[in-house]
Amino acid sequence: MKIHLYQLTLVLDTPGGVSAPESRRTDSAHAPALPLARDAAGRPHVPATSLAGSLRAHAEKTTGGEAARLFGELRREPDHTVATASPVRILGTRTHLPEDTDTLRRTSTAIDRDRGAAAPATLRERECLPPGTTVTAWLRLDDAPGSGLLAAELEALLPSWPVRIGGAQSTGHGRARLTRVTRRVLDLATPQGRRAWLTRGGPALFEGGQVVFPGPVHPAPQHDAPLVFGAPFSFAINDALHIGSGCRIEGGHHATDRNEHLRDHLGRPLVPGTTWKGLLRSRCAFILRSLAEHAACATLTGCGACPVCAAFGHSAVPGVSEGGLRGRLVFLDSPVLQPDGTPAETVSRDHVALDRFTGGAAAGLLFTDEVVERGQVALTIFDEPSDPHADPLDPLLRDVLLLALYDLHTGALGIGGRTTRGYGTLNGTADTAAFLEQEVPTARERLGQALSALSEEVTGG
Ligand SMILES: [Zn+2]
Repeated sequence: MKIHLYQLTLVLDTPGGVSAPESRRTDSAHAPALPLARDAAGRPHVPATSLAGSLRAHAEKTTGGEAARLFGELRREPDHTVATASPVRILGTRTHLPEDTDTLRRTSTAIDRDRGAAAPATLRERECLPPGTTVTAWLRLDDAPGSGLLAAELEALLPSWPVRIGGAQSTGHGRARLTRVTRRVLDLATPQGRRAWLTRGGPALFEGGQVVFPGPVHPAPQHDAPLVFGAPFSFAINDALHIGSGCRIEGGHHATDRNEHLRDHLGRPLVPGTTWKGLLRSRCAFILRSLAEHAACATLTGCGACPVCAAFGHSAVPGVSEGGLRGRLVFLDSPVLQPDGTPAETVSRDHVALDRFTGGAAAGLLFTDEVVERGQVALTIFDEPSDPHADPLDPLLRDVLLLALYDLHTGALGIGGRTTRGYGTLNGTADTAAFLEQEVPTARERLGQALSALSEEVTGG
């Protein structure tokens, strides 16, 4: 028998990781609500099952029904369950953070669908691995009689694997890529093979493997993620932008309080994917409902039945969708940059808190917002349904999303904090403005026709 041993190296491109809410420390008020899963030594850890699930999903998409040959299956027949063990086994993983970095914390808020503002008491803090984190995974594949081609199948599959690790994927978290695969084959019919197998264990067994990726047979691929509109959008800040980090520096008795801007792992001001997703979801639902009252739901958790829920996902809905649905639209984080690509600078803006009772300035209540006045953000929206056999994105939803983006471009919709003070107004830069101006009239027309057909169906039926 031949044992194939593969060592995979994966690198995270966006914040990510597998959360373990059950391991939340209760002895510290500062512990995040969603801490990362950790190993026995307390190091952040990516469970093998998480990688196996992502790889299996890729195999299903790529090979159709052949995934079971590599990864086994659990199938329900009318009177029994068929379980086949997976020939590919992930024996273990190890996670390495980039040098001199620590885990990140990200807060997210649910958007109140009616007010378009953050809903109270929905602040969630999640601990993440920073981009650049390396995950090493050790795989074993046994050459059973008659399945000699499995190793070649696995090796053909790995290079195109779009690795996804952990939750919050619809806000761009957990996007990783495979950077290296080595293979070592131990032939147990030979004395060398038997000696290696019996005398070495753990990661040492995988040492001295041959690099199979990237290589001449399997060069590094270009992952063409399916962009919803063919290209990212680009918006410039009109007046000022403030995305709060959730961190307020108390100034003490004489100084002012300061609301920090959210920053990414490189210290750049950031518009997180969660902000884009929440804002555009609530706007899409608002547009649909203003065209036809029952065209979209208005609940925080989603109804599980409308086009907005189908695209943005929803929580479990008893009787409709027991497991809930992960959103197929993926919104990446956007660092705020200057036109030359360097990080945008922030400035402080002073405010006086108004006394709610007199309407005048409340004595001593000064505060400062850290804002970006000049900068651009690129908005990247992918369509990545979790079901590999899903239908294309609903054209009606695509049109609604286009109108929501147009509202952002015209300033009818603002992003981030203090939009009532004029913060958060964006304008599309040249290409984005031209694209929206050209697409929106026809989108509006198509939407009108689709919705009037829908209401005729309702009244006619
Ligand atoms: Zn819904």
